[in-house]
Amino acid sequence: MQKFPANSFRSLALSPALLQVVEELGYEKLTPIQAQSIPPLLAGKDVIGQSKTGSGKTASFALPVLQNLNVHGRRLQALVLCPTRELCTQVAREIRKLGRRHPGLQVLILSGGTPIFPQLTALENGVHIAVGTPGRVLDHIQRKKLNLMDVATVVLDEADRMLDMGFEEDMKTILAKTPPKRQTVFFSATFPRQIEAMSRAYQQSPVRVTIEESQTQTPEIRQVLYETQADQKLKALIWLLQQNQPESAIIFCNQKATVAELARTLTQAGVSAAGIHGDLEQYERDRVMAKFRNLSTRILVATDVAARGIDIEDLDLVCNFDLPSDPDVYIHRIGRTGRAGKKGLAISLAHPREKTKIHNIEKATGKRIEVKTLASTEQLAVEAQKSVLKSDAKMDTLYIAAGRKDKMRPGDILGALTGEAGGLKGTDIGKIEIHDNFSYVAVAKNIAATAVQRLTIGKIKGRRIRVHLVK
Ligand code: AMP
Repeated sequence: MQKFPANSFRSLALSPALLQVVEELGYEKLTPIQAQSIPPLLAGKDVIGQSKTGSGKTASFALPVLQNLNVHGRRLQALVLCPTRELCTQVAREIRKLGRRHPGLQVLILSGGTPIFPQLTALENGVHIAVGTPGRVLDHIQRKKLNLMDVATVVLDEADRMLDMGFEEDMKTILAKTPPKRQTVFFSATFPRQIEAMSRAYQQSPVRVTIEESQTQTPEIRQVLYETQADQKLKALIWLLQQNQPESAIIFCNQKATVAELARTLTQAGVSAAGIHGDLEQYERDRVMAKFRNLSTRILVATDVAARGIDIEDLDLVCNFDLPSDPDVYIHRIGRTGRAGKKGLAISLAHPREKTKIHNIEKATGKRIEVKTLASTEQLAVEAQKSVLKSDAKMDTLYIAAGRKDKMRPGDILGALTGEAGGLKGTDIGKIEIHDNFSYVAVAKNIAATAVQRLTIGKIKGRRIRVHLVK
């Protein structure tokens, strides 16, 4: 038998389909939490794991769940409880992403604060995995709409936060309603007494997974600061983008007017950039975010309000075009780089008068920010005339005029593109996002026109569906 390094996905007993997806997604090494928790979970054991967002914990439980899933009967086989609607969305997205080679997979979000009727309809049609907040899940159970008879795995994600939010009773009631012979998984950043007690009450000889101190520490983020006069900022930004050539970066501004200005300037300079601020309509926001997530847009310019709640994966660079006054905002911003064990980079531009802000940030993070010197004014002026990024975005986004309500699934789109009629390579296809009434698929830029043509001529799910390139 071939041997694989211990931190490789191939060292796990995962199905070929899952290994292929992991490869397509570019996950190269197991994160520490994955290396420790996937083997016992695949073996059917209960696990109580220490984790936080960005540790790769979702894949830790999603891969074993998918491995053991039977997609043929549409029976609920796994239930994931999360504290918030945003987390439910993130978790469901990761599961769908990892499950894209499970044709027919149905993952349903049952979070509170969203209309219940569509959830009821979806439940009637049958789903394989439900991801929900405790309150709403209990609501469905009490309405007798959620059949838990076949649930093999229950996951409590961010269990400590669910307790903080007062979900303890709901969690207990839900657990008590699931089959006694089930796999129970707890993920939590901390282990307060109530979690230990719940583990004793609801788990059977759980495997405890803790991450060594050095691994739980804030991810490795290099923090750099340049002192800049206000009138030099824009040129400084261009220069530092030239220096770093990020594949994917977010630039934070304190005001929405700055967002619009920067997005315009960068676009005019030939950079695939987009701005996002609180005034955008929801659909515009969704479009901008989808393009950024799937690598069709390299630079996102945002205000904090607009960026709230959006999950973006491992950015190469977070830039503070303006420093925030609140150190927590700074920490939150830079936490979007250096995820999943990768090195991160956070660069800030600051006016010499902003020393107090910097001092407060350093106090809050407990780390010094490296202060570096910008190129000279003359040099900046020269560089500003040159191209900013050496290459274009890798991907283009296609709009497909059918979505979840038309029962469109990622596998259908992937199939249409890579099947006989499509003839494209799987490696040219990126993220697929199914929305209610439409879908987005990212395809390599050089084959985008071909992809539109093939999809327009061919059929998806046996139907002619309108497809166009998203500008
Ligand atoms: P999570 O902690 O589950 O929120 O995951 C953080 C991010 O890391 C997600 O966007 C995943 O897609 C990504 N991710 C998960 N596992 C890996 C891995 N082994 N290598 C690279 N990225 C990963």
